[in-house]
Amino acid sequence: MNSLDTTRIRSYFDFPAAGRVVTNNAASTQPPRELIGLLQRCAPWYENVHRGQSTASRRTTAMYEASFDTIAAWLNAPGRGCIATYRNTTEAINAVMYSLLTDFRDGDNVVTTMLEHNSNYVPWHALCREILPRLGRRVELRLARFDATGRLDLDHLASLVDKRTKLVCCTGASNFFGTKPDLSKIRAIADAGGYPQPTGERRALLLVDAAQLAPTSALDVQALDVDYLAFSFHKMLAPFGVGVLYAKRHLLDHALPFLYGGDMIADGGVTTETVAWNDLPWKYTAGTPNILGVIASAQALRLLLDMVMPTAFFGGSGPLPRVAIEEVMARVGRHTANLTARCMAGLSEIKNLRVYGPEHRTPLVSFTIDGISPFAIAEALDRRGIEARAGCHCATLAHRALGLDPPATCRLSFALYNTPDDVDLATDAVRETVAGRRRAGRPRPGRAQVSTAAGRPT
Ligand code: PMP
Repeated sequence: MNSLDTTRIRSYFDFPAAGRVVTNNAASTQPPRELIGLLQRCAPWYENVHRGQSTASRRTTAMYEASFDTIAAWLNAPGRGCIATYRNTTEAINAVMYSLLTDFRDGDNVVTTMLEHNSNYVPWHALCREILPRLGRRVELRLARFDATGRLDLDHLASLVDKRTKLVCCTGASNFFGTKPDLSKIRAIADAGGYPQPTGERRALLLVDAAQLAPTSALDVQALDVDYLAFSFHKMLAPFGVGVLYAKRHLLDHALPFLYGGDMIADGGVTTETVAWNDLPWKYTAGTPNILGVIASAQALRLLLDMVMPTAFFGGSGPLPRVAIEEVMARVGRHTANLTARCMAGLSEIKNLRVYGPEHRTPLVSFTIDGISPFAIAEALDRRGIEARAGCHCATLAHRALGLDPPATCRLSFALYNTPDDVDLATDAVRETVAGRRRAGRPRPGRAQVSTAAGRPT
């Protein structure tokens, strides 16, 4: 059963009129017309926030601040004081790294996984291998492995966490396999470590990279009991430029900011001797923020509800009922899961094609085809009007662990506006690409076939 009215949903977007088959949504989603128009609607009242007494400034400030309430409600966070906005997931994770930097003690360790996007691996690599050694502190980086189907090996993760594990960093969903590690089990593993945090708690902190989880599931940060959670709005229908960091309030209270400057200071709180931080969440908004981006991002969440259900949250700032968020995201999750299953079924009929990851997954399918480079597949798909992505998707560790040479796969990924037709067009295009290659690879009479030393066509 189709859980979404895709005809209605697609009417919000301009890309269908351009004839595009948008199947690279794990990279970025398309923005609905209303969100682009929203920037225009803000133009008459365009002003900076917290920096003026004009009606325009107060009006823009109210919209900007209300955006934090919308984002907090979306995540079921206790309030706006737990939300900091950055440019993207990557910057949000870096913010945690820099904020915690001074808290690490010699002999501590950080545990992350081989499933991670480089955004949740490289900052921890840099911390442990580049930054802290220069400060004379040794902090070990440990990596939990995954099994043959791309599922996180929880036993291995548990074996890596000990009483010196200050932080466990884990993806909410792999952008390569589509696997979703069990976050409640990971929470329990982080708790069992028993690390004595400066805040008095005795457990490892847990950071979740939700960049691939947030677009198709309702997130409840209190139920998950995560300490930090990050995601990017450009994968959730909003224009580029805004990422969210949720953190427990006491951690944001305790931590040093990542960026220093204006507006993150308590009013008048600067002397030649001392600087007093602003209240949360503004302690974490140094400098003029991406005001219109944050407003559009919060409104993207409200519009998402309206696109799926007959509600009217877009344009307002009132409370968002939890039940509506959960219902809408459950429908988005079902719809995109159906598309993904259809894609897997279509691809399974193609000889010499290998799909990575298990049957149940987030809406993305990464695959390789014997003898054809993933880049050649993606380019051939583009010539047939299908948008795909080839590369390691920044999941470089996992591609390398599988011994892929080059470390690359081709990936198709779906969003709420995709249809079964999109999936069929994509899988047909893959089939035609393979058939075209085989035809082109057949020896022609009178001509010798050229092959590489490894016996594979180039
Ligand atoms: N983590 C995961 C799992 C991702 O898929 C991505 C985006 N590909 C990121 C982090 C980084 O997101 P951004 O580029 O918006 O910082």
